[in-house]
Order: sequence, then C-alpha cells, then structure tokens
Amino acid sequence: MFAEILKGAKLLQGVAAEIYLDELASCPIREMTAGEILIAPGIKHRCILLILSGSLSIHLERPETEPVGHVGAGDIVGEISLISHSVTSAWVVGETPGRLLMIDEHRLWGLIDQAPLIARNLLMILTGWITTVNGHVLEQRKQIDILQDAARLDGLTGLCNRRWFDESLARLLARRVHHPVTLILMDIDHFKRFNDTHGHPGGDQALRALAELLKATLRLHDIAARYGGEEFALILPETGLSAATVVAERLRQAAAVMPIHALDGAPLSTLTLSLGIATGSDDATPESLIRLADERLYQAKHEGRNRVCVG
Ligand code: GH3
Ligand code: MG
Ligand code: MG
Repeated sequence: MFAEILKGAKLLQGVAAEIYLDELASCPIREMTAGEILIAPGIKHRCILLILSGSLSIHLERPETEPVGHVGAGDIVGEISLISHSVTSAWVVGETPGRLLMIDEHRLWGLIDQAPLIARNLLMILTGWITTVNGHVLEQRKQIDILQDAARLDGLTGLCNRRWFDESLARLLARRVHHPVTLILMDIDHFKRFNDTHGHPGGDQALRALAELLKATLRLHDIAARYGGEEFALILPETGLSAATVVAERLRQAAAVMPIHALDGAPLSTLTLSLGIATGSDDATPESLIRLADERLYQAKHEGRNRVCVG
C-alpha cells in the first residue's frame, strides 16, 4: 500500500523505488484530522508533507475563503516554504482525516542528489501551482474591475454616474490652476411626452442613444455623466467657454437628427436638448459651477428649449 502510493506520487514519477523506498519508509507519519490547519502563513516548514491518504484544501487569503485547489493521496504540500526557506503565504487545511509522510529537508535533498528526476518533478509541481495561483489572481482582478465599473458607471447608459461625476469635478477644479474647466448641463426637452408616446422602454432607448452620441463626440479626457433621469453633465477640462459652446452647439444639432430605435428596431421620434454652460473662474467651487450651468439650462428652457445658453 505504502509503496503503491509512493509509486503514484508526482514527486517520484519515473524514479526507481529502490532509490527512495527505504529512505521514505523511515520518515515519521503525521495523522491529520478534518479541519486541521497544517500550513499557515507566518510559519516556516522544515519538511514537505506527502499525502498518503485523505485530502487537503489550499487557500490563499484565509482558511475560510474559497480554496484555490485540493490535493490528495500522492500529492505534496509545503515544498515552497522548504525550498525558499521563507514563510508561506497560503493556508493548507485538512478536508478529511488522513496520513501524511513528513519528508525533512535533509532527506529531500539527499534523494534529489541520487535522482535528479525528483528535482524535475518538483519543478513541474511548482509550475502547476504558479499557473493555478496566477489564474486565481487574474480572476480576482477581473472581479475588482467589474465592481469598480459598477460603482462608477450608470447601469442604463454606461456613462459615469452622478457620484463619479461629483468626484471628478471636485478633483479637476482642485488642480486646474489657470486651466479652465467647463461644465455643460443638458436636459432632454419634453421627455415626459416622449415616454408617453413611446413607453418607458422607448424612453430608455432614447437615453441609450444619446449616451452613445456623447461617447462618440467627446474627447478622451472629457467626462460624460448621467446626472439625473434625463439630464446629462459634461466636464470639459482645459476648455474655455467659446470652445465649449462649439461642442454644445454641435451636440444640440446632432441630437436633433439622431435616429432612435425601439428594442424591436422600429424608428421612434427624434428629440431635442436644452444646454447650459459655465466655466470655472479661479474661485469656482463644484457647487457654484453647477449652480451657474443649471441657471443657464433653466434659461434655455425658459427661452423656448432646443438651445444653448452660456454663462
Ligand atoms: P422639460 O423639457 O421641461 O425638461 O420637460 P420634461 O418632460 O423632459 O421634464 P420632466 O421633468 O417633466 O419629465 C422628465 C421625464 O423623464 C419624466 C420621467 O419619467 C423621465 N425619465 C427620467 N428617468 C428616466 C429613465 O430612466 N427612463 C425613462 N424612460 N424615462 C425617464
Ligand atoms: Mg427634460
Ligand atoms: Mg429634467
């Protein structure tokens, strides 16, 4: 039984049994219980554990987190700490009761001296772990990106959300120093009527279409946000009032002829925008800039909608 397990062990693949059998038969055996922590960060290990029976789970963060892998009879654990003489960063926990062969450093190097194939096997085992851990880290990175996007973006349009807009405006105003920052607030005209005519899903399609127009029109460092229901905000860094007015007017004209389609592809009516623009003077705060742009937007509505008002 003992010899059979060793024969199937990855570490000893291709190595003649007479090289290792006597040596390993004299190693101590450790009994493992389910739930027992066998390896933990912060503790150096002077031996590798070759699993004779039972199974163990490997965890990167904490022992109660999802395991990155499982090992069973014929596998080894503890080799990284042993080779590097450093503490491990992983947790190894017993999943079921079992028996572990404790191969100390001295014996391992002695066996490797006799059969260099063991070193090659060890290298394969380590490479397998590196690949597993890399995959896990990449997966975590992806999850972080998804969460960061969700915290930053508006779900319907994919534009920045109000929170991200507020933070960006404050950040850009704080470091502008003689570089103008211009804010454009825009609101869809009679959008309630659009919704009444085409239904709420039709209205959502219009919001999406307008968001795509904004994304396609703006420069890379401009920030387009969904400021509220049918209200959008654009932050144009390093842009003065006259250049921003050209941008706003271009958007107004493009929006007025922008085709909007229902989810089934049927064409819906077009819409118009009212826009208010304000540029940050040296003592402008996010609040004062928003108030000024909002006053201009209100003026555009008051003067008949479908126009740009500049403050
Ligand atoms: P005004 O020209 O004065 O801006 O008129 P308005 O009808 O656009 O303004 P009002 O504030 O009366 O109505 C805004 C409408 O926008 C009503 C609301 O249902 C709609 N709206 C807000 N958020 C959404 C959304 O996420 N999807 C859809 N489909 N409609 C929305
Ligand atoms: Mg409106
Ligand atoms: Mg509105």
